[in-house]
Amino acid sequence: MVIQYKCPNCGDDMAFDSESGKLSCGSCGRTDAIEGFSDEFITTRFSDDEAKEYVCNNCGASVITDADTSATSCSFCGAAVVLADRVSGIHAPDKVIPFQISKEEAIQAFKKWCKNGRLTPKGFMSADRIKGITGIYVPFWLYDLHSVANVNARATRVREYTQGNYIYTETKYYDVHRKIDLTFNKVPVDASEKMNDDLMDKLEPYDYGSLKDFKTPYLAGYLAEKYNYNNKDLFPRVKSKVSGYIDKYISSTISGYSSVRYEEKRVNTKETNAHYVLLPVWMVYYDYDKQEHTFAMNGVNGKVVGKPPLSMAKVSAWFGSIAAATFITAKILTLIVGGDIW
Ligand SMILES: [Zn+2]
Ligand SMILES: [Zn+2]
Repeated sequence: MVIQYKCPNCGDDMAFDSESGKLSCGSCGRTDAIEGFSDEFITTRFSDDEAKEYVCNNCGASVITDADTSATSCSFCGAAVVLADRVSGIHAPDKVIPFQISKEEAIQAFKKWCKNGRLTPKGFMSADRIKGITGIYVPFWLYDLHSVANVNARATRVREYTQGNYIYTETKYYDVHRKIDLTFNKVPVDASEKMNDDLMDKLEPYDYGSLKDFKTPYLAGYLAEKYNYNNKDLFPRVKSKVSGYIDKYISSTISGYSSVRYEEKRVNTKETNAHYVLLPVWMVYYDYDKQEHTFAMNGVNGKVVGKPPLSMAKVSAWFGSIAAATFITAKILTLIVGGDIW
C-alpha cells in the first residue's frame, strides 16, 4: 500500500521537515503536526503485499523498489512515498528517531569534514564530487541485556624491603571471587543487510531521549529500509559488542594487585528486551580517483564517519608544522587511519 501526504492548502505533496519536526509542503510552506494529520489528506493505493512495483498516486508512474525499501520517492514526479505494508505487521517499528539535520546542513558538514579542502587533494573541493546525498532510515535492534559474570582469579601482591644485609621479597597470594550483575539498556545493532556494520557502529551514540513512537509520516521524503535480520539473528553480534565492556568492567573490580591470573570467567548474557527502531543516517556518495566513496552521518548530532580523500603531501606538510602538539598529532593519526572524525 502506497501512502502519500497531501497539503490541505494546495494539494501538493508534503514531506517530513527535520527543522520543525512536522509535515511540510514544499509549494506553499504550510506545516502540519504529525499527530492528528487528517485522514482526508492521506491518499493510499493498494497493491500486492510483496510487489516491487507501486503506482504513484500523483502521476500514475510506477515506483520500482527493491524488496527491502519501505519509503522512497517517485522517480518521475518526486512525490514522497511510504510503502505501508513494509512497516506494518512484524515489520512495524516500535520507535523512530526523526531526522534533525537537514540535507543542506549535511552537505555543509561534508565540506567541513573534508577540512574545507585543507587536506584533500588539489581540485577536490572545487569540483562537484557529491554524486548523491540520501537520507535513510536504517533499521536497528535496540537490545536490553542482563549479564551475570562469575569470576575466579589468583592474584598476588609483591612487596620488597631491606633488612640488615638482605633484600626480602614478600609475595602474598589471594583467591579472588567476583559475581557481577550488569544491565545494559538500548545497545544498538543495525539490521539491514545493505548497510556496512562498521560504519553503522561508528555512528553511535544516538540520543535515545529523542525516540518517538513510530508513525509513517516521519518517513515521508526519505528512504527507509526494513530489517533483514531479526533480533534472534543478531543476538551474537550484540553479545560480542558488550563482551569487551564486560571484560573491562571485571578487571576494574580487581585492582591493587601485582598480578592477576584468571582461572575461570563465566559470562552469561540474556536478552531482556529488543526493540525494532529506525535511526536517521545521511549517506553521501562521492567519486574520487574513479572510485565511488561513501561517508555516513548521524542524522541527529551530525557525527561523521568514513574515510576522507587525503592528499598525502598536504597531510605530511601539515603534520610537520604542528607535530609538537601531541593532541593534534593524535587527531591527525585518527584522520589518517580513518577513525571517527568531526
Ligand atoms: Zn501546500
Ligand atoms: Zn509520481
